Amino acid sequence: MHQVQLAGLTVDTRHAIGGERVASAETFESVSPIDGAVLARIARGGAAEVDAAVAAARAAFPAWRDLGPRGRGAILHRLADLVERDLEQLAQLETLDNGALLRSHRRGVMPRVAHNLRFFADWAVDELHHEPFETRGHTNSISWDPSGVAALITPWNAPLMLATWKIGPALAAGDTVVLKPAEWTPLSASYFADLAAEAGVPAGVFNVVQGYGAEAGAALVAHPGIARISFTGSVPTAKSIARAAADNLTPVSFELGGKSPLIVTDDADLDLAVELAVEQYDNAGQVCLSGTRLLVHEAVAEEFAARFAEAAARLRQGDPREESTQIGPQIHRVHLDRVAGFVARATAEGARVVVGGGANDELGGLYFRPTLLADAAPGSEILTAEVFGPVLTMQTFSSDAEALELANGTEFGLAAVVVCGDRARAERLTKNLVAGTIWVNCFFVRDLRAPFGGSKKSGVGREGGTWSFDFYADVKNTVYAP
Ligand code: NAD
Repeated sequence: MHQVQLAGLTVDTRHAIGGERVASAETFESVSPIDGAVLARIARGGAAEVDAAVAAARAAFPAWRDLGPRGRGAILHRLADLVERDLEQLAQLETLDNGALLRSHRRGVMPRVAHNLRFFADWAVDELHHEPFETRGHTNSISWDPSGVAALITPWNAPLMLATWKIGPALAAGDTVVLKPAEWTPLSASYFADLAAEAGVPAGVFNVVQGYGAEAGAALVAHPGIARISFTGSVPTAKSIARAAADNLTPVSFELGGKSPLIVTDDADLDLAVELAVEQYDNAGQVCLSGTRLLVHEAVAEEFAARFAEAAARLRQGDPREESTQIGPQIHRVHLDRVAGFVARATAEGARVVVGGGANDELGGLYFRPTLLADAAPGSEILTAEVFGPVLTMQTFSSDAEALELANGTEFGLAAVVVCGDRARAERLTKNLVAGTIWVNCFFVRDLRAPFGGSKKSGVGREGGTWSFDFYADVKNTVYAP
């Protein structure tokens, strides 16, 4: 009754707390965006389950802390082995639950889940050192000490990938974890709790509380027993979490939304520019980093738009389990309606539809056509607010100064893409762009050693490499007399 068989896996629908499975009186449905099928009824947690999970994580903390980076690392590597063992089933499960392409889960995302665990396990052992240095003969010795219980709150667009991007460094740092996955995609986190137990992660070190943001999520971030809050999601939710965190002065790490520019200069390789622009529809546009604002030099704008429209029209939309599909469905009816609302308001205000413009009626369900809008009014909603769907806008510029003004002209600063034929010119542009990550003539090259995060409203803090440990650990300096 508390388990469902999906994609060849047995997935428990209850919370994972202190090494036990715990039910709640209430449940919520996990629905597949592919065909609307109800996949499972998931335990709907609240303050009581959060209290139990934080208590279990606190009780498990001293032993996990004392295991040290090597002991923890060995267990995290075993966990990565198990992810790799079940990689095909995990890929299928995630596709059922969030509708993203099966082939990218198979070849990109799930291997990355295992890599997230291995990378941070090894970093804690091999790289987390600071050379001691002297002050008037005294020696400064710096350490990264485990800080306690990390509360992790994650979104639905890349569920297990984004969760392990936090779980990896938190556990490697010696913290224990309470994870609250997104309510639209609860399944992979639940199965991951079983893998953690099988890998030898001690009871209470990794806990999952399922439920709604306003219930389980809000109770978790307000809990006085947690030492860290790491959140990936939207700006409005981040503001509410920041208010809750303020009462306990709990340190937060926020990875938030974006409205990133993709700049095409007049000397750019237009084939590459079109290829990179079409890639912004990846994951049906449900990617925080997407360069959704195409800023194109006026000298090449007409040709770019024509070539882009051709390439976008060739994209195959359909069932994300098919190998040939390039764009799947939106995650949920509520989200599809939100995306459609943005497009309807933009066109009502005079924006012109170059490509797409609405739901894919041939497919029905939650499929929204890849869309490009032009001629939107400066400062309008469609040019400034995050849509988080397959909706791009195009604006033109006549000088690099104007391109920069447009590019930096939103409250976000997560990422930027620059397609440019000249390295020195690209460097002048990147120097003046406000963004956590910039790609020049490429997209989505991510290395866990690099800092990752957003400027302005796109985030607070940076993760990756030692930056992750600076957040999850209590960084300590001990000064030894000569
Ligand atoms: P969301 O903010 O609605 O929800 C994210 C998580 O927060 C969910 O688990 C939700 O249950 C929880 N939550 C909601 N209200 C809460 C509250 N009051 N207290 C505690 N937790 C609460 O975001 P979403 O719609 O799931 O995800 C889309 C957003 O995430 C987009 O803005 C996207 O750009 C952003 N995102 C950012 C990154 C990044 O790395 N910067 C990556 C992926 C997604």
